[in-house]
Amino acid sequence: MRNTTQSDQLFARAKELLPGGVNSPVRAFKSVGGDPFFAKRAYGAMIEDVDGNAYIDYVGSWGPMIAGHAHPQVLQAVSETIADGLSFGTPNPLEVTMAEEITRLVPSCEVVRMVNSGTEATLSAIRLARGATGRSKIVKFSGCYHGHGDSFLVKAGSGVLTLGLPNSPGVPAALSELTLTLDYNDFDQAQELFDEYGDDIAAVIIEPVVGNANCILPKPGYHQHLRDLCTKHDALLIFDEVMTGFRVSLGGAQELFGITPDLSTFGKIIGGGMPVGAYGGRRDLMKQIAPAGPIYQAGTLSGNPVAMAAGLATLKLIQRPGFHSELLDKTNYLCDGLEQAAKDANIAFHTTRVPAMFGLYFREGPVESFADALQSDAARYGRFFHVMLDQGVFLAPSAFEAAFMSIEHSKDLLDQTIAAARAAFASLQSA
Ligand code: PMP
Repeated sequence: MRNTTQSDQLFARAKELLPGGVNSPVRAFKSVGGDPFFAKRAYGAMIEDVDGNAYIDYVGSWGPMIAGHAHPQVLQAVSETIADGLSFGTPNPLEVTMAEEITRLVPSCEVVRMVNSGTEATLSAIRLARGATGRSKIVKFSGCYHGHGDSFLVKAGSGVLTLGLPNSPGVPAALSELTLTLDYNDFDQAQELFDEYGDDIAAVIIEPVVGNANCILPKPGYHQHLRDLCTKHDALLIFDEVMTGFRVSLGGAQELFGITPDLSTFGKIIGGGMPVGAYGGRRDLMKQIAPAGPIYQAGTLSGNPVAMAAGLATLKLIQRPGFHSELLDKTNYLCDGLEQAAKDANIAFHTTRVPAMFGLYFREGPVESFADALQSDAARYGRFFHVMLDQGVFLAPSAFEAAFMSIEHSKDLLDQTIAAARAAFASLQSA
């Protein structure tokens, strides 16, 4: 068994001082049971805890660490930048370079605004959509998570789903009534909703691959269907690419699926591990943001030079030719290996994948909807999670979060993960 003495002591202290002992809910291991470990350091594909246990990491700080933890080029960019000061409150050159990079890699983003988290990005994009259209209603999908903004905590995924709180207390009913929800991948339902409310809808916001209800892929043509409905009714289509951006393809899910959204939101990878978000899109929309236009949005630390340096260094690493196809190969290799191991142990198990992002389900496939995802045996996932953790593999501590691959996950580490899964499946069989 792992020694967890230091982590346990820290968690006892933390529980007195932080809600649930953590600063973000899923970290607390509530859905898988047990207590979290406290990280001391991370390098490449590995994360090490304060008791000296090392784990192959498939959480990757929930997405940013696609190039691996503590990449020397990212660390160097950060240390060179901090030597000149941490924050200026006046424009700095790296903000311009970052905007050039994002708009070049994601052509639908003609103009971009940097913020400090994914939540800020989605909140700001919705305000812009409402301001620009003069409409109040927004549409989201059950199981999708767009951060903790009031309007999004309606049938939400991620931690709120993990904890069974998809509609949070504290959100005024008058506001949540403006959020209409749809079932992901249901073509007719979207059509019917637009038939009824189309001209009141400011925007449809969607995770183009749902990573906050495990990992659900869009059916062929689904995003185009939404694009057509939005265009027809002058509603805006917002791709929330906080998770998928720069991950599933260099140009994000919009490049992978060939869709042009009106607005996009980003986070995670563009900060390289520092707190960053961004939203961007059509010039005629973005020019309505203050000070160019009347829709207000601001941030003391937005465009922070250290965060820009970490993000730019990461964006440079992922532009190496073949980077994303290598990630897809790794993702397929692992998922195929896990499926084979489950089959050999006669365990009902299914994986879904896109490059560098995958879902693990304790049920047979296919999984095409939020309802399908919910049918995964979460208690079984919890047991699997712990046997894997004890063997040095850190998966998401929730059955409803996607897993992430980094470029540093070597074949050897993937083989170790599959071997650990064989043991874990065998233990489930006997449980
Ligand atoms: N949108 C999506 C798709 C996300 O996955 C997340 C976070 N996991 C967010 C928004 C919110 O980002 P943040 O946690 O940085 O506020």
